[in-house]
Amino acid sequence: MILTGTMRINDKQHLEIGGCDTVELAEEFGTPLYIMDEEMIRENCRRYKEALESSYPLGEILYAGKAFLITAMAALINEEGLGLDVVSGGEIFTAIKAGFPPDHLCFHGNNKSREEIIFALESGVGRIVVDSLSELEELLSLSSEVKKRPTILLRIKPGVEAHTHDYIQTGQEDSKFGFGLQNEDTWKAINLAIQEKEKVNLVGFHCHIGSQIFQTEPFALAVDVMFAFMAEVREKTGFTASQLDMGGGLGIRYTKEDTPPSIETFVEYISFAVKNAALKRDFPLPQLLLEPGRSIIGEAGITLYRVGVIKDIPGIRRYVAVDGGMADNIRPALYQAVYDAALANKAGEEPAMKATIAGKACESGDILIQEAFLPPVKKDDILVLFATGAYCYAMACNYNRNPRPAVLFVRDGRARIVARRETYEDLVHLDQPCRNCI
Ligand SMILES: *Cc1c(COP(=O)(O)O)cnc(C)c1O
Repeated sequence: MILTGTMRINDKQHLEIGGCDTVELAEEFGTPLYIMDEEMIRENCRRYKEALESSYPLGEILYAGKAFLITAMAALINEEGLGLDVVSGGEIFTAIKAGFPPDHLCFHGNNKSREEIIFALESGVGRIVVDSLSELEELLSLSSEVKKRPTILLRIKPGVEAHTHDYIQTGQEDSKFGFGLQNEDTWKAINLAIQEKEKVNLVGFHCHIGSQIFQTEPFALAVDVMFAFMAEVREKTGFTASQLDMGGGLGIRYTKEDTPPSIETFVEYISFAVKNAALKRDFPLPQLLLEPGRSIIGEAGITLYRVGVIKDIPGIRRYVAVDGGMADNIRPALYQAVYDAALANKAGEEPAMKATIAGKACESGDILIQEAFLPPVKKDDILVLFATGAYCYAMACNYNRNPRPAVLFVRDGRARIVARRETYEDLVHLDQPCRNCI
């Protein structure tokens, strides 16, 4: 059990978060239940901001909303003074609903629709990260129509790809995102953007090398590749990039085995790499943008489940089934993500048995944890999964027509519902009336 943020074990031997007893929260709000430690989210935002301010002269932190975005989260990010990455019309809409200043939005995506581009332009989003030549061409025609001049960056594939422990430098072109370093389209796009500067304001370049990354070296490699590229652009076209966006990707601790660098180490390291690379190529320091998602919200979230059926298969394994699963957390089924669990109502007890935590979906692959070590489990115990803040609610679905759980923000002993639990009525809300419908 990794206790982070405001989590602790209270006198009743229950897990507590944000000053709230999780067992009481499960009683009051039902299960499954997502709970977010508001203090920890805010602290992570501040740590990123302060680390960047103290190690780099001009920068901006943009929270990558795709990790977890609802109106309350957009409002929190605005209160903390961060920008916000959005990747769809729906995310733009959510941010605007929350009163988020559109000029602090940055719009990403490899296949933005006409409608989404128009929506972004009309809303006045601050930056658009252009992903292809055809998108730039469409943007040029739409920005004339809408009479807006967007600020744009071009997304580059730096040929460094990193995930957790491994990174590869491939010069790879085989990704659906961004412009290849030496692709003909890349130069066409740069020249076109420069030529059409009345219509678009090209300010620089973006890259994003992966997610759940534990090493710092791949970021330095990517910084170096980006500067070599920006120097080449300057030489060939006279355009000097004034903004460099190095994306997100810092990993978090899902289990004890995970050892990511701290936010401070990560930000200082990238800042240093950027300053070094700029010096080496005699390049003026660009504004540095970073786009963390998981490392802001991931460890701040937990999910509570109620234990139902326990099934022993002698000599093979013990299944402990909970009242949620792949519909509220698709990550184990989708890419073998590993989580740590505990019993919230027996948080002080030592693990004594091994179990496989299964969900309730009609899908054999609906396993949340292959091997969990828990105190003796009984029906109706409250099982907690840690570090579920990122990419869980965001990817939740209604498979088997299960309503999506509520989301709580907890802080200083108080819980507030930031997304209510879906009801059965919500589930049929979009269905058109049928002959015998009541
Ligand atoms: C997903 C993504 C991020 C955030 O990645 P994390 O691993 O959650 O930090 C940032 N920028 C871009 C362009 C992304 O696609």
